[in-house]
Amino acid sequence: MSFDSDPAGLERGVTDPKGFLTTPRRDCARRPVGERVRDWHEVYDRQTLLPVIGEQAGRCMDCGIPFCHHGCPLGNLIPEWNDLVWREDWAAASERLHATNNFPEFTGRLCPAPCETACVLSINQPAVTIKNVEAAIADQAWAGGVVRPRPPRVRSGKSVAVIGSGPAGLACAQQLTRGGHLVTVYERADRIGGLLRYGIPEFRLEKRYLDRRLEQMCAEGTQFRAGVAVGIDLDAAELRRRNDAVVVATGATVPRELPVPGRELAGIHQAMEYLPAANRACTGDAAPGAAGSVAGCAAGGAPVSADGLQVVIVGGGDTAADCLGTALRQGAASVIQLDINPLPGPDRAPGQPWPVYPKSFRVSSAHQEAREVAGLAGTDWDGWLGPQPGPDGDVRVFSAFTLGFAAGPGGRVRALRLAGTELTGPEQAGGEQAGGEQAGGEQAGAGQAGTGLAGRVPRQRRPLPGSEREVQADLVLLALGFTGPEPDSGVMDQFGLRLDERGNFERDDDFGGGADGVFVAGDAGRGASLVVWAIAEGRAAAAAVDRYLMGSTGLPAPVSPADRPLTA
Ligand SMILES: Cc1cc2nc3c(=O)[nH]c(=O)nc-3n(C[C@H](O)[C@H](O)[C@H](O)COP(=O)(O)OP(=O)(O)OC[C@H]3O[C@@H](n4cnc5c(N)ncnc54)[C@H](O)[C@@H]3O)c2cc1C
Ligand code: SF4
Repeated sequence: MSFDSDPAGLERGVTDPKGFLTTPRRDCARRPVGERVRDWHEVYDRQTLLPVIGEQAGRCMDCGIPFCHHGCPLGNLIPEWNDLVWREDWAAASERLHATNNFPEFTGRLCPAPCETACVLSINQPAVTIKNVEAAIADQAWAGGVVRPRPPRVRSGKSVAVIGSGPAGLACAQQLTRGGHLVTVYERADRIGGLLRYGIPEFRLEKRYLDRRLEQMCAEGTQFRAGVAVGIDLDAAELRRRNDAVVVATGATVPRELPVPGRELAGIHQAMEYLPAANRACTGDAAPGAAGSVAGCAAGGAPVSADGLQVVIVGGGDTAADCLGTALRQGAASVIQLDINPLPGPDRAPGQPWPVYPKSFRVSSAHQEAREVAGLAGTDWDGWLGPQPGPDGDVRVFSAFTLGFAAGPGGRVRALRLAGTELTGPEQAGGEQAGGEQAGGEQAGAGQAGTGLAGRVPRQRRPLPGSEREVQADLVLLALGFTGPEPDSGVMDQFGLRLDERGNFERDDDFGGGADGVFVAGDAGRGASLVVWAIAEGRAAAAAVDRYLMGSTGLPAPVSPADRPLTA
């Protein structure tokens, strides 16, 4: 393996001309379930990538029109780095990867990889393992000392405040700092990272990857102020007085509610009350006396723990899967995940042709774990009218409509009442973000039209008459998605922001929103989306800010606020 960059390597032909014919797709191995549910370390065995990754990259056909580019909002230069990996020029591959992506070690682990579903090879064969190649390049670059701070050579004398330290805020801050501006990131949580820190669990993104990026950013000159809620601890007028521009990257943090009888019972929590507590426990912040000690987690218990409990998770996306993996590691007695959507087929549906991101049946690492260590609680699911269990012992139950909760002793939840789901009325165009589980897979609130894949709002749903039943529940976790940014945190009023028709912060074509010099990036403007879109938005908003401050910009702008994923 060489880290001596060979510029000539960029003048390339086809990667491995026969690679796609001779080499089958091989994914990165996951650690054995029995081992990984006893710790919080990353699910994947990254070491297995290295002997095979060159051959996997060699499957790339170096297409004349690389549709993988169209799937990726960052415009990642995928055939170029596939070729460089195949030639073992890791340094050049890292340079090409970082040319379009500030944080490839995050996307290489977390992205649902719309590039792979758009890969030309996937028309009649398994796609190139683009995401694994990306993660391997990033990991090799860090291991080889190729990733270094890149402080600006010239300072502009301008200062910018970025509010929110999720992937959008961080990407924006890094771009602007490297562009010569003095950037300060304000974060109301006690640690920097947004959902990368306190939403996504350690077993999917170990926080050491985040911490080393933050060290790089600090060394480049970005300043961080954690524990400052803008709009409350620091008002907008003061922030604007201190800075030449402000970027609002505060995320879409308002959880969708489930307004059904019994919602007020103890033991029913929003996912984002549960997951941050579990992540904090892994960092050593457990509440005194909390239950749920888990080996490999620094201080053991989280304040809300699934230890020994019958857990029901309501929702079908990434957040629900993260609740599932967390509950298993905390020692849940049983788990069921309810998804209001019908059981998807194993392949693309006719209405979701290549290269769009299809809604097909996927088994995440948490679902695989749940099958092996828990299994679906209750024995009488099969043949029962209405809700439909997933195949092969999957703990998901599809077409499940939550009706309400039954109380047990002490005002605690005892059971969840559900029914099958009936669809009514015509499908309408005009849904939100597609291209990943997070965007399309969450369950909408009871009785409402939910957000859907492929830019469509699904038909209205209602409970199927005669299909009601109860499932035991001591702990219920609601993972129904997010409705948008907070309208009442002070940020919206103080910066003069308005909500658009989807309930997100309105912005113009240049990411500008509200008062002059105020910009909006990431989920706050787009609605709940994906890490890759947040990074793309952060980069593009940085270009808009740079142009506002300097009159022109050389920074890349991979997306516009109106851009949407490939949809059917
Ligand atoms: C549980 C979960 C799992 C997910 N898994 C995936 C995945 O596997 N793959 C994927 O691509 N996407 C995933 N997502 C989605 C992804 O995390 C988000 O799309 C992305 O983090 C959005 O980035 P952002 O920077 O816009 O906002 P966020 O990451 O939400 O960051 C916003 C930050 O702003 C801060 N903030 C808010 N208001 C203020 C204020 N007034 N003052 C100061 N700070 C403030 C918040 O505390 C927060 O830290 C997941 C989301 C969740 C909830
Ligand atoms: S579409 Fe697939 S095969 Fe074609 S260049 Fe992109 S990764 Fe390679």
